[in-house]
Amino acid sequence: MSDKKHKTSGKYAPANTTVIADSENLDPVYISELQFDRAARYIVDLKKGLIDFLKKPKRTTIVNFPVELDDGSVKSFEGFRVIHNRVFGPGKGGIRYHPEVTREEVVSLAKLMTWKCALVNIPFGGAKGGVVCDPKALSEGELRRITRRFTSELFDVIGPHKDIPAPDLYTSEQTMAWIFDTYDILHPGYNNRPVVTGKPIEMGGSYGRIDATGNGCVYATERFLSKALIPDRLEIAGARIVIQGFGDVGSVAARAFYRRGARVIAVSDSQGGIYRDEGLDPDEVERYKAEHRTVVGMPGTLSLTNAELLELECDIMMPAAVGNQIHGGNANNIKARLIVEAANNPTTPKADDILYQKGIYVLPDILVNAGGVTVSYYEWVQNQANEQWDLEEITEKLKNKMYHAVDDVFSRWQSFVVGEEPAATENATAKQRPHPPDFRTIAMIIAIERVTKATLIRGIWP
Ligand code: GLU
Repeated sequence: MSDKKHKTSGKYAPANTTVIADSENLDPVYISELQFDRAARYIVDLKKGLIDFLKKPKRTTIVNFPVELDDGSVKSFEGFRVIHNRVFGPGKGGIRYHPEVTREEVVSLAKLMTWKCALVNIPFGGAKGGVVCDPKALSEGELRRITRRFTSELFDVIGPHKDIPAPDLYTSEQTMAWIFDTYDILHPGYNNRPVVTGKPIEMGGSYGRIDATGNGCVYATERFLSKALIPDRLEIAGARIVIQGFGDVGSVAARAFYRRGARVIAVSDSQGGIYRDEGLDPDEVERYKAEHRTVVGMPGTLSLTNAELLELECDIMMPAAVGNQIHGGNANNIKARLIVEAANNPTTPKADDILYQKGIYVLPDILVNAGGVTVSYYEWVQNQANEQWDLEEITEKLKNKMYHAVDDVFSRWQSFVVGEEPAATENATAKQRPHPPDFRTIAMIIAIERVTKATLIRGIWP
């Protein structure tokens, strides 16, 4: 990589794809609380004080720091690190660099990490971080200085047994290497490798980490299809698939779907989408994108907007970009049979309600994209002993983890369907407690129960 400025495109979309109904509240904290409340209604004996505790982050760190830019000017940046919960272990979660990062968004994503780790039974709590910056307009040198200064400002907020960052939107292996290096310089004399995951292989990273989220999404999808809830669609082979986003997650998932015999009919990036009814070859798309910095315009494809792409008729729709893409304004037009959430928070609560009414299943983010943090956990374990496991071992472990998580969610869903778990109770109407609950709610119920049970087993201190 050179040190010169990246091309400034100024675009971070897919921006919200159609006008979102005014009445829809998109505050990320509100949405995370609503999702929590929807699940909490099904949990018997959930202590009120625990609900209040779990709705708030345990700790929020906000830092402001100056960085010298390449032209000699100085710019001040704001960064966040939030730990939501630590009952199962140290905080875990990515750090994102994006001009629209807010404290509220980071808080809601830290909560999501708590539920994600609990759902796949990984001994971490939920955390998240972010720096408000425009990485597309910053040179590599500027990004390095932002990362080092942010890490030094966090100092002991992170640590191998306290809180362990990882890549997220617009952060990479290189970002993680800089965080490790800075932390290691500030804390000499220790094995500091486990302070961060998603590192380069040469620096203690794990085989399979880069592809883990995308591959995990595909394992989750194939296991879900095998449950036969979607008539005539018991496997990936032959499925028509649409993927919004062709970054680290979407492109890996596209290749894994393609290898299994699916027809990936459309993909997109921030500039727009491409469509080919007989299916795209993801390697060809990747090569085109590497050369043109976008998928748009690839020969032999039709161009379409991100909004049009989401409304295509297909078996599986995978949002793999940013949040709030499927919302009250477009959910009615969705024609997919299954939505597989590779991105975090791509579907709003209003869209969840509409999709439920339409009979479209949504496999939620905390289940589908948990492969990333799963292999982060394997990296962290390897780092404790300075070992490196081979790719086959990681792949097998990841597949089992994802299959088990889908099985857990599915069997809980079945217990509602066969009536082992009650429908509405006296404190909730049937509208407040749809029967059976959607898969997001089921996944949240399992995660919240695990976290609250562990909290009570540990005992409330003192
Ligand atoms: N940023 C990823 C996520 O949202 C991975 C986090 C991690 O590996 O700690 O799940």
